[in-house]
Amino acid sequence: MADNKNLMDKLVSLCKRQGFIFQSSEIYGGIGGFWDYGPLGVELKRNIREAWWHDMITGHDNTLTPEGAPSPYSMTGLECSIVMHPQVWKASGHYELFHDMMVDCHECKSRFRADHIGSSQCPQKPSKCPGEHDKCDLTEPREFNLMFKTHVGALFNPDSEAYMRPETAQGMFVNFKNVVDTSRVKLPFGIAQIGKSFRNEITPRNFTFRSREFEQMEMEFFCRPEESRQWYEYWRDQRYNWYVNLGLKSDKLILRDHEADELSHYSNGTADIEYAFPFLGEGEYGELEGVAHRGDYDLRSHSEGKLVRDGDGFAVELGEDGKPKYSGSGKDLRYHDQVANEKFFPHVIEPAAGCDRAALAFLCEAYTEDQVPDGKGELQERIVMKFHPRLAPIKAAVLPLRKKEDAEIAKDIYRKLKPYWNVFYDEGGSIGRRYRRQDESGTPYCITVDAETAEDNSVTIRDRDSLKQERIPVDELIGKLHEKLSGA
Ligand code: ATP
Repeated sequence: MADNKNLMDKLVSLCKRQGFIFQSSEIYGGIGGFWDYGPLGVELKRNIREAWWHDMITGHDNTLTPEGAPSPYSMTGLECSIVMHPQVWKASGHYELFHDMMVDCHECKSRFRADHIGSSQCPQKPSKCPGEHDKCDLTEPREFNLMFKTHVGALFNPDSEAYMRPETAQGMFVNFKNVVDTSRVKLPFGIAQIGKSFRNEITPRNFTFRSREFEQMEMEFFCRPEESRQWYEYWRDQRYNWYVNLGLKSDKLILRDHEADELSHYSNGTADIEYAFPFLGEGEYGELEGVAHRGDYDLRSHSEGKLVRDGDGFAVELGEDGKPKYSGSGKDLRYHDQVANEKFFPHVIEPAAGCDRAALAFLCEAYTEDQVPDGKGELQERIVMKFHPRLAPIKAAVLPLRKKEDAEIAKDIYRKLKPYWNVFYDEGGSIGRRYRRQDESGTPYCITVDAETAEDNSVTIRDRDSLKQERIPVDELIGKLHEKLSGA
């Protein structure tokens, strides 16, 4: 644990030093739970988003049955607004149920999540858990809604209240009919979205792990009820493998099925994909993604009104007047199967991932300290970010060995590569220092231009991880990099 804490401190410092992640509004002292991505961080996050979008949507073949799937399926994308009609959150259950239990201390005026008391720290010295000092004066746990409230329009009254979305999922449900009517998709199919979500977390912490503004990558997969179990299992495995294929080691990644008493009010089954983040204790894991079997809860709620458990199923929750407590849209959101001529609410499987948590896991996994020869027969410590090539912010750096003589040829090579990848040109400092800088940025390949280049039109490619150097003709550079970066 001590080593892990040390590792986390080193990673946070590297993120700042190299421009991966900064505290939001840092020059004003920062604001808790908000983070900014710097020049390298923004590329890392874009690459995660693009990998997800490609692997889930644009790279998916709608005509084939993938291994482990019951049938072929279609995938479509969507992007909806952050502020939605307030009734969306009433029908979905968020207005009433999206809360944490919190405990306040009258003495130090701090607020803690009731389920985190044992792992939280009271601000009084010496550091102890809340409630452990004689002076601590804790309240009973009370509900605290996590949705950020705002007002729409010029008037500030209860009628103008709206919410910043706490998840992207509801956008897919309320647009279900629009997508079916316009894209001609047939069951089974998925609608996916990437976008910002906001939660007024009581105790944001662990770097970006628990933030108040974060990005989600969510997909709602609609299928026939009798096939839903098989699809649930398919998506659990797909999503777990996605992280492994992008470099998270399987011994640090677990797929954990929720116990019955952990399930959300809507869920018929949920599995979390969890990673052994270094800020957690031995044997502890933090959630990267939840894969939930949501049944027909959401489409029915948005049709009929907020649902509550009723035996094995759900029924519309009624108010004292016998009408739905929180009404739905009244629109028929059932799917019409034209071949079987039947109408029904499809069941939904939802893989819900956090882009920032994925970025943090990839950063933790990539951070490596090793030793490399310094060219004078000694070994030198280095820090290297071993990102998967698809995620690496910079794919290759072009480095002239001699600033004067080799610069023009090096710039020419840089310009040839630029249309294909995010490449970096660097002529400042010794070659060893330039390699070290690229290692810390996680650049998989360095291309060195030297005196031989002018003679035989060849360059050296240095591999970030193995340090192997290969001499290749400049004409083969683009093909070679394509091959290497695609992981072939
Ligand atoms: P937690 O139990 O950690 O609060 P959750 O179960 O409420 O998470 P979901 O509602 O399932 O999370 O959201 C899906 C994903 O969105 C999570 O797996 C996580 O990756 C991401 N996420 C949720 N809350 C946050 C947050 N406060 N900061 C960063 N990412 C988050």
